[in-house]
Amino acid sequence: MIKDQTIFGFIREEEYRQKSGIELIASENFVSNQVLEAMGTVLTNKYAEGLPGKRYYGGCEIVDKIENLARDRAKKLFNADWVNVQPHSGAQANAAVMLALINPGDKILGFDLSHGGHLTHGSAVNFSGKLYNPSFYGVQEETGRIDWDEVEKIADREKPKLIICGASAYSREWNYKRLREIADQHKAFLMADIAHPSGLIARGLLDDPMPYCDVVTTTTHKTLRGPRGGMVLMGKDFENPMGLKTPKGKTRMMSSLLDSGVFPGTQGGPLEHVIAAKAVAFEEALSDDYLSYVKQVRSNAQAMSDEFNQRDYKIISNGTDNHLLLIDLRSKALTGKQAEDALIQADITINKNMVPFDDRSPFVTSGMRIGTAAVTTRGLLESDMKRIVELIDKVLTNIDREEVILEVKKEVNNWMLDYPLFK
Ligand SMILES: *Cc1c(COP(=O)(O)O)cnc(C)c1O
Repeated sequence: MIKDQTIFGFIREEEYRQKSGIELIASENFVSNQVLEAMGTVLTNKYAEGLPGKRYYGGCEIVDKIENLARDRAKKLFNADWVNVQPHSGAQANAAVMLALINPGDKILGFDLSHGGHLTHGSAVNFSGKLYNPSFYGVQEETGRIDWDEVEKIADREKPKLIICGASAYSREWNYKRLREIADQHKAFLMADIAHPSGLIARGLLDDPMPYCDVVTTTTHKTLRGPRGGMVLMGKDFENPMGLKTPKGKTRMMSSLLDSGVFPGTQGGPLEHVIAAKAVAFEEALSDDYLSYVKQVRSNAQAMSDEFNQRDYKIISNGTDNHLLLIDLRSKALTGKQAEDALIQADITINKNMVPFDDRSPFVTSGMRIGTAAVTTRGLLESDMKRIVELIDKVLTNIDREEVILEVKKEVNNWMLDYPLFK
């Protein structure tokens, strides 16, 4: 067989795009060479439905060792009692949890998508909004923050079976303790989806949901800096309160319900090559280097926030506790789409994003979301964040001047190609 030059040509093009631009999409990151290497291996050839030691296929002795190591490392990293590392993505992890914990038609309460929540927390276009009966809490207009008394009021009114916390575009800390109290009042399950800040949570820079939430889901590819994928964790396993029994009449543990939610509930065979890469990434995330990395991610987000403030941009909630910022561009008379389109011309990648109480559609939006996980992996520091904001501001204040935008692009390319990425 001759090598597929077309596809490998495109992959080289994409590699150059990643190397030469400034990557500010809050959900993206750059994995290490060994994470990449683990993914591109013969492990992709192996079927391993089931769990280590309990597979439906033969020849799983080696992938069992790999998956067990991934599980041990994940448990250590998050101080968790139980984990399933098989979900193919964050959305799959959430689907598995909902399938395991609640029934179609049951009420769920999540953070509003238009305030920074995620599609899988009850959006009408997603399985979560089609199969379950969603209601939402959001942020206050003046503060840009969640009002926990308001969440309690909504829960009292709606009586959800499952309360979901966590978001894709919320830059502030979560009150897990308060949410636990609210969930207990209604005998509801509490799930935290930490897809975005999981790396900062793992290394103690943000409050830990594990002691308060029944179940925690995450992606592995955002701040955690592993391969694309998801997982489900529990701080502590417990007997299911729905009274579901095993064939022998014993009350089933939550771990067994959640494992079944992943397989056979929502997935077939696990991706053992990705699980190997997850194991590599978890070991990296346990290192001192990674601790310094997540600290720098947060300092960089704060430096960026300060510089945007200096330049009179309106940051939702006026700042950030984590790795991302949500900026309302209405005071600059720009839409999110205009900003995204102009910045991409300068090889600066951000994403347009709805802001709370947005009056524009999700295709246009009034905001942009910016994260520092990827640029920090490239080795950029606080002073570089100021320079990036200066470049963004230059593009956005010269949105119709192609020559200015091309000048910025040249500066971006020259600057970034000096920072090595991938060997
Ligand atoms: C990114 C994200 C997900 C989904 O992850 P995928 O891997 O893209 O399916 C789920 N929940 C939240 C809060 C996210 O930010």
